[in-house]
Amino acid sequence: MALENYIRDIQDFPKPGIGFKDITPLLGNPNAVKECVQLLLNSLKDKNIDKVIGVESRGFFFATLLAYELNAGFVPVRKPNKLPYETISSSYELEYGMDTLEVHVDGIKKGDRVLIHDDVLATGGTAAAVCELVEKLGGEIVQCNFLMELSFLNGRNKISKYDIYSPLVY
Ligand code: IMP
Repeated sequence: MALENYIRDIQDFPKPGIGFKDITPLLGNPNAVKECVQLLLNSLKDKNIDKVIGVESRGFFFATLLAYELNAGFVPVRKPNKLPYETISSSYELEYGMDTLEVHVDGIKKGDRVLIHDDVLATGGTAAAVCELVEKLGGEIVQCNFLMELSFLNGRNKISKYDIYSPLVY
């Protein structure tokens, strides 16, 4: 099965000029979901992951599946003022303006081996901000994985010191 057949290109979403990769056809197909989970797990053999971070919101889907399969805890990273307990935050630049992400202070313990998951690696700003949060709490980043990487945006450069894996690369 070609996984790329389950990724839909939407032009001019969310703004004119942007080409959006829509993963909902993939989410709706159990065989495609299983294949993705398997590919992601294959890259994580014997990595002893303690926590899987999922990035709001499309990162949550596969991060929870991976956490379950790895027998690891799931930790949400969310947009500001969504998490109820004490948080730390990290801000990063967007094309126009800034964005902020937060995690609970007790989400990651010092020395935890952490997998970071999001659906798409684009410019890498989001992933770099999440890496900063994990390291502020003393976690060790074992891998950053994504369903897909938009390689023409060079997001890898922002997180180049970490192991990166994505089954789909555009
Ligand atoms: P970055 O910070 O530029 O790497 O953007 C990555 C974040 O934006 C991720 O959280 C993605 O969910 C989201 N994102 C960027 N481009 C797309 C896309 O084409 N489809 C789905 N999500 C995207």
